[in-house]
Amino acid sequence: MTDNITGKVIVITGASSGMGEAAARHLASKGASVVLGARRADRLEALAADIVAASGKATVVVSDVTNRADVQKLVDTAVETYGRIDVLINNAGVMPLSPLERLKVDEWDQMIDVNLKGVLYGIAAALPYMKEQKAGHIISLSSVAGHKIFGGSAVYSATKFGVRAISEGLRQEVKPYNIRTTIISPGAVKTELLDHITEQDVQKANQDYVGQVGVPAETFARLVDFAISQPEDVDINEILFRPTAQE
Ligand code: NDP
Repeated sequence: MTDNITGKVIVITGASSGMGEAAARHLASKGASVVLGARRADRLEALAADIVAASGKATVVVSDVTNRADVQKLVDTAVETYGRIDVLINNAGVMPLSPLERLKVDEWDQMIDVNLKGVLYGIAAALPYMKEQKAGHIISLSSVAGHKIFGGSAVYSATKFGVRAISEGLRQEVKPYNIRTTIISPGAVKTELLDHITEQDVQKANQDYVGQVGVPAETFARLVDFAISQPEDVDINEILFRPTAQE
């Protein structure tokens, strides 16, 4: 019996660190061809070299998800290189948390551009191919913060609630094309996500908490595997997970 991962062509945004990187390594090790997107070329090249050295297949497309042409190129490259796109993982995201009253308006813009518009650009690039193939799977990253609001998370939560709305709306529309959609909402996972919080007090509080309870990025890789590896007539609509110790 096939695991329904071997041979699949899987595009991952934000593959240069954290959960995107862990998913890329895991899925490539199970025989998927992975197409890696993010802005940091050196990190992507090193990851692809590791995967190829382990007899896997990986292609790098340096790309910024806030640039629609970049996202289109990422997806087009998957199809040009491997002949199709089976799965898109809309993973790229940023979380510069802060209380609204501190008016970090540039960071609000960045979260909306990366976390929301980046996901929409991914869908815009992949959907025509998947409709044509009459097969595909679009996985998008929300968060526990896409289910509840906590200190400093108003804008981040707005983007992650939004991702859930987009993914569920998409699910309802694309059934005729045999396309699956999955929302994955992680709790605290130890990655580089907190490094970019510019408000020191907020960063410290989050680092202390995630340092205590956070689980490794490989946790996410196992859950992506679970969603993809279901038979094609089963769509895992949503996964919400927390470290056992998380509130
Ligand atoms: P990381 O910071 O380790 O990874 C984020 C990835 O997004 C990096 O590869 C980064 O690459 C990429 N990225 C950021 N901005 C852009 C951009 N403009 N264009 C393309 N890629 C970009 O964090 P995580 O692995 O934790 O984050 C992955 C996802 O998980 C995010 O959507 C995050 O919101 C979500 N999440 C994380 C949680 C956690 O506890 N860690 C909890 C809940 C959700 P580069 O800088 O090279 O472009």
